[in-house]
Amino acid sequence: MAGRGRGRGRGAPFNVQFDDAGQKSIDQYWMYTRLVGGDMYDEEGREKLMSEEELCKYMKEKLPQRLENRLFVSWSSSTGMDCKEVGPETPCFCQHRFKQHKTDFDKIPTERPILLPCRVKNCKCAAYHYVPMSGGQTIRCSACKHPAAEHSEKEPYPCKKPNCQKCPGFKSSYSCGCGEPYYNHGMTVETKSERLARGHPVGQDVPFAAMGGLTGFSSNLEGYQRMDPSGRGAPNKEFLDQDITCQDDAYLRAHVNSLQAKRNANMLVDDLGGEIEEQESAMKREGETDLEFFERRYKERRKRELWNIAPVDPSSQSITTGVRHQRASEIQVGDIMPGPNPTGRNPPKSARGRGRGVKK
Ligand SMILES: [Zn+2]
Ligand SMILES: [Zn+2]
Ligand SMILES: [Zn+2]
Ligand SMILES: [Zn+2]
Ligand SMILES: [Zn+2]
Repeated sequence: MAGRGRGRGRGAPFNVQFDDAGQKSIDQYWMYTRLVGGDMYDEEGREKLMSEEELCKYMKEKLPQRLENRLFVSWSSSTGMDCKEVGPETPCFCQHRFKQHKTDFDKIPTERPILLPCRVKNCKCAAYHYVPMSGGQTIRCSACKHPAAEHSEKEPYPCKKPNCQKCPGFKSSYSCGCGEPYYNHGMTVETKSERLARGHPVGQDVPFAAMGGLTGFSSNLEGYQRMDPSGRGAPNKEFLDQDITCQDDAYLRAHVNSLQAKRNANMLVDDLGGEIEEQESAMKREGETDLEFFERRYKERRKRELWNIAPVDPSSQSITTGVRHQRASEIQVGDIMPGPNPTGRNPPKSARGRGRGVKK
């Protein structure tokens, strides 16, 4: 009976503990994998570690490429919704990860579509293409019923299973969460300016390898889950604060009163908060000379003025457009595009949508 019933049961989680140094090493290793991406594997697919000098030299070469020539990669539907933003670990049809494909470019290719071939030895994948997962494995082929992973990575992607003769090439009628079938989707590989022109977010410039279409936390969701009909990203505050109308979801309509009460309470706190702050600030502090007092008050006033005329950030505008229900007559070009705004000011509070109960 030795060893039985003792220690870790089958399937029970490990309890691993690290001291500070161990934790730091893990963080460093994690950072290393993100910076180096697919370059951390040799030709045989084995992991290799760089010395600090090597990493320094590597980053000096790669950093400008990644900042200037980043390509944004997503799996999009025919309506332009990015159903899946590809990240460094997203598997390809060839079963290798996105970071194992070519993602760094000296110069952005002029031909479209841009192909991102696989770099793993003996893999014939000519261009990265995403294949959705269903129940823990890749979706099945409509012709032969075998999973996508059993098919060749070379066009026209025939089945590799022995004795499978009826498959001329992978095909699927799998229905994506957006409502469109698999075959109505395709890969979008685009530059920063092309993506901005499409009105999709580009996020911050990052030094990491193979970031694909990841631009923020909401990129990890499927397109239709990003609470915006376009699947671009999180909607802005005005969108969420729209009046609840009879066209809205029954859940929203049922809670119109409690939502209204909460909003009123928040407004009260906002107003009171500002007033208390002003009262405190108007009092002279202990040990403060007259000159110091006036200087502090002047600085506060300047700060408030600067806040009021804060320029509108065009990049944030392009992510935060959306309409919960299409009311074409109410949407003006200025609402959607970061167009000319002569004053550069944000609209006054009273002009923004404040809920006033159900409108009929
Ligand atoms: Zn591939
Ligand atoms: Zn591959
Ligand atoms: Zn097949
Ligand atoms: Zn097959
Ligand atoms: Zn889709």
